[in-house]
Amino acid sequence: MKNKALKTYIYGLLALLICYSELTLASPFSDSVDTTVSTGFKLRTIVIDAGHGGRAGGAQGAYSMEKNVTLAIALKLRQAIQKEFKDVNVLMTRTSDVTLANGLRAVMANENKANLYISLHCNSLPNVRKVVNGKTVSVPNRSGKGVLFLINRFGRSNEQVAAIRENQMAEEEESLTKRTEVKVDPAEAMMLNAFRDKFRKQSVHLANLINNEFIDTDGRASLGVIEQGVQVLANTSMPSILIETGFINNPEEEDYLNSEEGQTEIVNSIVRGLKTYKNEVERVAP
Ligand SMILES: [Zn+2]
Repeated sequence: MKNKALKTYIYGLLALLICYSELTLASPFSDSVDTTVSTGFKLRTIVIDAGHGGRAGGAQGAYSMEKNVTLAIALKLRQAIQKEFKDVNVLMTRTSDVTLANGLRAVMANENKANLYISLHCNSLPNVRKVVNGKTVSVPNRSGKGVLFLINRFGRSNEQVAAIRENQMAEEEESLTKRTEVKVDPAEAMMLNAFRDKFRKQSVHLANLINNEFIDTDGRASLGVIEQGVQVLANTSMPSILIETGFINNPEEEDYLNSEEGQTEIVNSIVRGLKTYKNEVERVAP
Protein backbone atom coordinates (compact mmCIF):
# COMPACT_ATOMS: atom_id res chain seq x y z
CA MET A 1 0.00 0.00 0.00
CA LYS A 2 1.39 3.37 -1.00
CA ASN A 3 0.35 5.11 2.17
CA LYS A 4 2.08 2.47 4.23
CA ALA A 5 5.34 2.88 2.29
CA LEU A 6 5.17 6.65 2.66
CA LYS A 7 4.45 6.32 6.35
CA THR A 8 7.44 4.01 6.82
CA TYR A 9 9.63 6.44 4.90
CA ILE A 10 8.51 9.37 7.05
CA TYR A 11 9.06 7.40 10.25
CA GLY A 12 12.52 6.43 9.00
CA LEU A 13 13.36 10.08 8.47
CA LEU A 14 11.99 10.96 11.89
CA ALA A 15 14.09 8.22 13.45
CA LEU A 16 17.19 9.66 11.79
CA LEU A 17 16.28 13.11 13.05
CA ILE A 18 15.86 11.75 16.56
CA CYS A 19 19.22 9.99 16.41
CA TYR A 20 20.70 13.31 15.35
CA SER A 21 18.95 15.19 18.14
CA GLU A 22 20.20 12.53 20.57
CA LEU A 23 23.74 13.37 19.55
CA THR A 24 23.23 17.10 19.81
CA LEU A 25 21.39 16.73 23.08
CA ALA A 26 24.30 14.86 24.59
CA SER A 27 26.28 18.05 24.97
CA PRO A 28 23.93 20.15 27.11
CA PHE A 29 24.64 17.84 30.01
CA SER A 30 28.31 18.73 29.91
CA ASP A 31 29.64 22.01 31.20
CA SER A 32 30.06 23.78 27.87
CA VAL A 33 28.05 26.93 28.41
CA ASP A 34 29.60 29.81 26.49
CA THR A 35 28.80 29.40 22.83
CA THR A 36 25.42 27.75 22.95
CA VAL A 37 22.38 28.30 20.82
CA SER A 38 18.74 27.43 21.41
CA THR A 39 17.49 23.99 20.42
CA GLY A 40 14.08 25.46 19.82
CA PHE A 41 12.71 23.18 22.53
CA LYS A 42 10.87 24.96 25.32
CA LEU A 43 9.87 23.44 28.61
CA ARG A 44 6.31 24.72 28.46
CA THR A 45 4.21 22.46 30.65
CA ILE A 46 5.06 20.76 33.93
CA VAL A 47 2.63 18.42 35.66
CA ILE A 48 2.88 18.27 39.44
CA ASP A 49 1.31 15.18 40.90
CA ALA A 50 0.46 15.17 44.60
CA GLY A 51 0.58 11.45 45.42
CA HIS A 52 -2.53 9.63 46.65
CA GLY A 53 -5.57 11.62 47.86
CA GLY A 54 -9.13 11.09 49.06
CA ARG A 55 -9.74 7.49 50.07
CA ALA A 56 -6.11 6.67 49.28
CA GLY A 57 -4.23 8.17 52.20
CA GLY A 58 -0.83 6.70 51.35
CA ALA A 59 1.70 6.17 54.11
CA GLN A 60 0.89 7.16 57.68
CA GLY A 61 2.97 8.94 60.25
CA ALA A 62 2.21 9.35 63.93
CA TYR A 63 -0.06 12.32 63.26
CA SER A 64 -0.06 12.98 59.50
CA MET A 65 -0.94 11.25 56.27
CA GLU A 66 1.08 11.16 53.08
CA LYS A 67 -1.78 12.47 50.91
CA ASN A 68 -1.90 15.74 52.89
CA VAL A 69 1.86 16.26 52.95
CA THR A 70 2.21 15.66 49.22
CA LEU A 71 -0.62 18.11 48.49
CA ALA A 72 0.90 20.81 50.70
CA ILE A 73 4.29 20.44 48.99
CA ALA A 74 2.67 20.28 45.53
CA LEU A 75 0.77 23.55 46.08
CA LYS A 76 3.94 25.29 47.28
CA LEU A 77 5.86 23.87 44.32
CA ARG A 78 3.28 25.21 41.86
CA GLN A 79 3.59 28.68 43.35
CA ALA A 80 7.40 28.55 43.29
CA ILE A 81 7.56 27.35 39.67
CA GLN A 82 5.09 30.02 38.54
CA LYS A 83 7.23 32.65 40.26
CA GLU A 84 10.54 31.37 38.92
CA PHE A 85 9.54 30.43 35.36
CA LYS A 86 7.08 32.89 33.88
CA ASP A 87 6.92 30.95 30.61
CA VAL A 88 6.00 27.60 32.17
CA ASN A 89 2.47 26.34 32.52
CA VAL A 90 1.90 24.28 35.68
CA LEU A 91 -0.81 21.63 35.81
CA MET A 92 -1.81 19.81 38.98
CA THR A 93 -3.24 16.31 38.99
CA ARG A 94 -5.20 17.40 42.07
CA THR A 95 -5.51 20.55 44.19
CA SER A 96 -7.71 19.11 46.92
CA ASP A 97 -8.29 15.90 48.84
CA VAL A 98 -9.83 13.81 46.08
CA THR A 99 -9.43 10.16 45.10
CA LEU A 100 -7.72 9.89 41.73
CA ALA A 101 -6.83 6.75 39.79
CA ASN A 102 -3.13 6.55 38.94
CA GLY A 103 -3.98 5.91 35.30
CA LEU A 104 -5.88 9.19 35.11
CA ARG A 105 -2.87 11.16 36.29
CA ALA A 106 -0.81 9.94 33.35
CA VAL A 107 -3.67 10.50 30.92
CA MET A 108 -3.95 14.09 32.11
CA ALA A 109 -0.23 14.67 31.55
CA ASN A 110 -0.25 12.98 28.14
CA GLU A 111 -3.33 14.78 26.87
CA ASN A 112 -1.93 18.15 27.89
CA LYS A 113 1.35 17.31 26.15
CA ALA A 114 3.33 18.01 29.29
CA ASN A 115 7.12 18.18 28.96
CA LEU A 116 7.79 17.03 32.48
CA TYR A 117 6.01 15.05 35.18
CA ILE A 118 6.91 15.32 38.86
CA SER A 119 5.15 13.01 41.29
CA LEU A 120 5.51 13.79 44.99
CA HIS A 121 5.35 11.10 47.65
CA CYS A 122 6.46 10.24 51.19
CA ASN A 123 8.23 7.05 52.07
CA SER A 124 7.72 4.71 55.01
CA LEU A 125 9.10 1.40 56.15
CA PRO A 126 6.83 -1.56 56.80
CA ASN A 127 6.44 -2.91 60.30
CA VAL A 128 8.83 -5.62 61.39
CA ARG A 129 7.76 -8.81 63.12
CA LYS A 130 9.30 -9.52 66.49
CA VAL A 131 8.77 -12.30 68.97
CA VAL A 132 7.89 -10.92 72.40
CA ASN A 133 7.14 -13.37 75.24
CA GLY A 134 6.65 -16.15 72.75
CA LYS A 135 4.18 -14.11 70.66
CA THR A 136 4.88 -12.63 67.25
CA VAL A 137 4.03 -8.93 67.20
CA SER A 138 4.21 -6.26 64.55
CA VAL A 139 6.50 -3.39 65.50
CA PRO A 140 6.83 -0.09 63.61
CA ASN A 141 10.17 0.45 61.91
CA ARG A 142 10.93 4.15 62.23
CA SER A 143 14.53 3.96 61.04
CA GLY A 144 13.95 5.08 57.41
CA LYS A 145 15.77 8.27 56.52
CA GLY A 146 16.22 10.55 53.54
CA VAL A 147 14.96 11.24 50.05
CA LEU A 148 14.67 8.75 47.21
CA PHE A 149 14.03 9.19 43.49
CA LEU A 150 12.25 6.65 41.34
CA ILE A 151 12.43 6.57 37.57
CA ASN A 152 10.30 4.10 35.67
CA ARG A 153 12.20 1.31 33.99
CA PHE A 154 10.45 0.93 30.69
CA GLY A 155 8.94 -2.36 29.82
CA ARG A 156 7.29 -3.34 26.60
CA SER A 157 3.96 -1.91 27.52
CA ASN A 158 1.62 -1.28 24.64
CA GLU A 159 -0.16 1.40 26.61
CA GLN A 160 3.05 3.30 27.10
CA VAL A 161 4.09 2.97 23.48
CA ALA A 162 0.68 4.33 22.57
CA ALA A 163 1.02 7.18 25.01
CA ILE A 164 4.39 8.21 23.63
CA ARG A 165 3.11 8.06 20.11
CA GLU A 166 0.12 10.13 21.07
CA ASN A 167 2.27 12.84 22.55
CA GLN A 168 4.83 13.03 19.80
CA MET A 169 2.60 12.65 16.78
CA ALA A 170 -0.38 14.83 17.30
CA GLU A 171 -1.87 13.89 13.94
CA GLU A 172 -2.50 10.34 15.07
CA GLU A 173 -5.62 10.63 17.14
CA GLU A 174 -6.62 7.57 19.06
CA SER A 175 -9.35 6.98 21.54
CA LEU A 176 -8.32 6.05 25.07
CA THR A 177 -10.15 2.77 24.86
CA LYS A 178 -8.06 1.62 21.93
CA ARG A 179 -4.74 2.09 23.67
CA THR A 180 -4.30 -1.47 24.77
CA GLU A 181 -4.82 -2.84 21.27
CA VAL A 182 -2.30 -0.69 19.49
CA LYS A 183 -0.02 -2.50 17.07
CA VAL A 184 3.24 -0.80 16.29
CA ASP A 185 5.17 -1.28 13.06
CA PRO A 186 8.97 -1.72 13.27
CA ALA A 187 9.88 1.73 11.94
CA GLU A 188 7.56 3.36 14.39
CA ALA A 189 8.84 1.20 17.24
CA MET A 190 12.38 2.34 16.48
CA MET A 191 11.33 5.96 16.71
CA LEU A 192 9.40 5.39 19.92
CA ASN A 193 12.36 3.63 21.50
CA ALA A 194 14.53 6.65 20.71
CA PHE A 195 12.03 8.92 22.45
CA ARG A 196 11.74 6.56 25.35
CA ASP A 197 15.49 6.42 25.82
CA LYS A 198 15.73 10.19 25.66
CA PHE A 199 12.99 10.57 28.28
CA ARG A 200 14.72 8.04 30.51
CA LYS A 201 18.05 9.87 30.31
CA GLN A 202 16.42 13.21 30.96
CA SER A 203 14.48 11.80 33.93
CA VAL A 204 17.62 10.36 35.51
CA HIS A 205 19.47 13.60 34.89
CA LEU A 206 16.79 15.79 36.48
CA ALA A 207 16.53 13.43 39.45
CA ASN A 208 20.29 13.66 39.98
CA LEU A 209 20.22 17.46 39.80
CA ILE A 210 17.49 17.71 42.43
CA ASN A 211 19.07 14.96 44.54
CA ASN A 212 22.32 16.94 44.64
CA GLU A 213 20.39 20.00 45.84
CA PHE A 214 18.75 17.99 48.63
CA ILE A 215 22.14 16.65 49.74
CA ASP A 216 24.40 19.68 49.23
CA THR A 217 22.05 22.54 50.08
CA ASP A 218 19.65 21.02 52.60
CA GLY A 219 21.95 18.41 54.17
CA ARG A 220 19.40 15.65 53.60
CA ALA A 221 20.25 11.98 53.59
CA SER A 222 19.57 10.32 50.25
CA LEU A 223 18.90 6.79 49.09
CA GLY A 224 19.70 7.90 45.54
CA VAL A 225 18.08 7.54 42.14
CA ILE A 226 16.62 4.14 41.39
CA GLU A 227 15.17 2.78 38.15
CA GLN A 228 12.39 0.25 38.57
CA GLY A 229 8.87 -0.46 37.40
CA VAL A 230 6.85 2.43 38.85
CA GLN A 231 3.12 2.15 38.29
CA VAL A 232 2.49 5.86 38.84
CA LEU A 233 4.96 6.75 36.08
CA ALA A 234 4.45 3.77 33.79
CA ASN A 235 2.11 5.43 31.32
CA THR A 236 3.47 8.94 31.15
CA SER A 237 4.99 9.90 27.82
CA MET A 238 7.50 12.53 28.90
CA PRO A 239 10.46 12.69 31.30
CA SER A 240 8.97 11.70 34.67
CA ILE A 241 10.32 11.45 38.18
CA LEU A 242 8.85 10.34 41.47
CA ILE A 243 10.30 12.01 44.56
CA GLU A 244 10.01 10.31 47.92
CA THR A 245 10.46 13.48 49.96
CA GLY A 246 11.21 11.71 53.24
CA PHE A 247 10.04 8.99 55.64
CA ILE A 248 6.74 9.96 57.19
CA ASN A 249 6.98 7.17 59.78
CA ASN A 250 10.29 8.48 61.10
CA PRO A 251 9.29 11.02 63.81
CA GLU A 252 12.08 13.47 62.94
CA GLU A 253 11.32 13.38 59.22
CA GLU A 254 7.57 13.54 59.82
CA ASP A 255 8.10 16.85 61.64
CA TYR A 256 10.30 18.11 58.81
CA LEU A 257 7.80 17.07 56.11
CA ASN A 258 4.95 18.80 57.94
CA SER A 259 6.85 22.02 58.73
CA GLU A 260 6.76 25.19 56.66
CA GLU A 261 10.54 25.24 56.73
CA GLY A 262 10.89 21.64 55.56
CA GLN A 263 8.33 22.00 52.78
CA THR A 264 9.92 25.23 51.59
CA GLU A 265 13.39 23.67 51.56
CA ILE A 266 12.11 20.73 49.53
CA VAL A 267 10.36 23.02 47.05
CA ASN A 268 13.35 25.35 46.68
CA SER A 269 15.66 22.43 45.98
CA ILE A 270 13.31 21.08 43.32
CA VAL A 271 13.14 24.51 41.69
CA ARG A 272 16.94 24.91 41.68
CA GLY A 273 17.29 21.50 40.03
CA LEU A 274 14.59 22.41 37.53
CA LYS A 275 16.30 25.67 36.67
CA THR A 276 19.51 23.89 35.69
CA TYR A 277 17.57 21.22 33.80
CA LYS A 278 15.47 23.77 31.91
CA ASN A 279 18.54 25.75 30.87
CA GLU A 280 20.18 22.57 29.63
CA VAL A 281 17.33 21.15 27.60
CA GLU A 282 16.58 24.52 26.01
CA ARG A 283 20.04 25.03 24.64
CA VAL A 284 22.53 23.08 22.60
CA ALA A 285 26.14 23.66 21.67
CA PRO A 286 26.69 24.64 18.00
ZN1 LIG B 1 3.16 7.40 47.97
